Amino acid sequence: MRFEVTQVLDAIERHLTTEAALAQAVVDLGHVAWYGQLDGGRPVSLLRAGLLIDALSRHLGEDAVMIYAVASRELLTDADLTSKERMVLGRWSGDGMIEVVPVMADRVPEVGDITGLPVITIDGFPGLETRYGWLRGVPERVLHLVPGEGGARIIGGYPLPAEGRAALLGKVWRCVRRDCPLFGDRRGSGQAVPRMRSGVPVCPRHDEPLTNIGVKPPAVTFVLVVDGSVRDRFVVRAGRPVVVGRSPDEPTGIVIGGYLDGPVAAMISRNHVRLSLLDDGLFAEDLSTNGTTVRTQSPYGPGEQVQLAPGAPYPVGPTDMVELHSGVVLVRADRIPPGLLHAGGSVMGDAPTMTMRPLP
Ligand SMILES: [Zn+2]
Repeated sequence: MRFEVTQVLDAIERHLTTEAALAQAVVDLGHVAWYGQLDGGRPVSLLRAGLLIDALSRHLGEDAVMIYAVASRELLTDADLTSKERMVLGRWSGDGMIEVVPVMADRVPEVGDITGLPVITIDGFPGLETRYGWLRGVPERVLHLVPGEGGARIIGGYPLPAEGRAALLGKVWRCVRRDCPLFGDRRGSGQAVPRMRSGVPVCPRHDEPLTNIGVKPPAVTFVLVVDGSVRDRFVVRAGRPVVVGRSPDEPTGIVIGGYLDGPVAAMISRNHVRLSLLDDGLFAEDLSTNGTTVRTQSPYGPGEQVQLAPGAPYPVGPTDMVELHSGVVLVRADRIPPGLLHAGGSVMGDAPTMTMRPLP
């Protein structure tokens, strides 16, 4: 199979985040890139991250998976990387899309420990089970990457979100280096995960103590589900409303036009619905031409549907679904109702974001 390298690297990039609120698993990017057995190819290859993302997508049954990737400096300076791979890694590092650390040590299980996220591993983190008892005690939080059909496979459970450490994650931290891609001025509230050194939070990249500059605003993570597949994942923060639509005017808007077929896209307005997190809950405001519906879920029946009055914010309960059109739904990432998603496997069939799609 032939792959267009640039397209694959771009596709991988869309699945990278250093925000705990968006990530679904933590991984050592070097481990994956150096895992020659995965495809029997070069000693180091960044494209293996694409095999990992596809494997995780199949495992979780959704194609908008987001990974928190940590890379050691050793990976960034590996002489066997192509110049393109080195350039892309440098950009991911500079833009804070991956976390680069001087020394890996226990960083991946540490991020898993602080955030509650599952970890992806090849060798099972030997020697670290004593410090992180859940590596052995909660096997569904440890996902194993192995060679498999189509490139790679994940073996492990289907982890439920575990409780993160609110004392660390609930604060806004700043690095002494103001241009720091993880904790610098550019990050706003979507920051990375602190590293702990003798009980002191430090910047994982610069190893300098972090300063707490305030409390992080509350946030809710949503997914966009189109025809039973998770197509996108985004965070709504207090004080920062998010507009979802075919092609919203605001640069912070969630663009969903690319996930829709022509007739459905025509029913979705450019600015369709605005989600706002206020003191008294989450609200949806219809901005569209064809309307927005909120559906409640009830254990006793089909629930209710409410057609939103244009321009009037309507309270959205934790388990409610916001429907932009039949089959186009926004729902909290931790409250996806059973039955909304098609079974894993069929999901990846026509996924436009499928990372390793071969060229015809
Ligand atoms: Zn820093």
